[in-house]
Parts: sequence; C-alpha cells; structure tokens
Amino acid sequence: MCVKCWKQRMPDRGTTCLEKGAYLMNYVGCHQCQARASIGEKDQTKQEEENGDEVITFTHVCTECEHEIAAHTYQFSIEEEFQEYSMECNLCGHGEATVSILPNDPREQQLF
Ligand SMILES: [Zn+2]
Ligand SMILES: [Zn+2]
Ligand SMILES: [Zn+2]
Repeated sequence: MCVKCWKQRMPDRGTTCLEKGAYLMNYVGCHQCQARASIGEKDQTKQEEENGDEVITFTHVCTECEHEIAAHTYQFSIEEEFQEYSMECNLCGHGEATVSILPNDPREQQLF
C-alpha cells in the first residue's frame, strides 16, 4: 500500500464505518499518475459467517492507472443484543460503532 496518496495514516473517524466508497478528504491524489479523479475498488471479498458476522475487504485503486492506494476492511458482527461495526483503512481511517438491536431500552420493557 502507499503512504504518499493519503494525508494522514488511518485517521480517527469516530463511529463512521464505510462498507464501500472512500474518504476523499484524506486523499491527496494519485502520486503515480497525478490524477485526482475518482477512486475505484478492486479485489472485493465478502465473508459471511453462519452467526451473521460479515467481513468485507477491498483495495482502493486509482481509476486512471490502477495504482493501489489502500486496503480497506469493514466488519460487522452481532454480540447478543448489539450490532458492532468497525472499519480499518489507511485512507478512510478507523471507526467503530455499537448499535442496540432492541427497539427500546430493555429496562423499560421489563415493566410490562
Ligand atoms: Zn500512491
Ligand atoms: Zn493513478
Ligand atoms: Zn478505505
């Protein structure tokens, strides 16, 4: 992967987790062909586990010259009543989010 095409290595993105696309704010432009056109994706893989966990990986490439910019990993898993998302990518940064899959707070439901 390439340290010259991004401004900052794996910036902290808080709870932002992208399963596709790219964080263009962190893209300097392709240092190989100088294009700052769009970023493409190649070598997508998607692993789905029986328990519902998912891992998606792909490589960000320059659409002009196919220069490889960064490797992107997105993970999704279910932990009891929470869904956990995470993203790791030198270009898009690091993000993590936990979302409750219950529509209401469980403590309120116990009142019924
Ligand atoms: Zn580069
Ligand atoms: Zn290029
Ligand atoms: Zn990325």
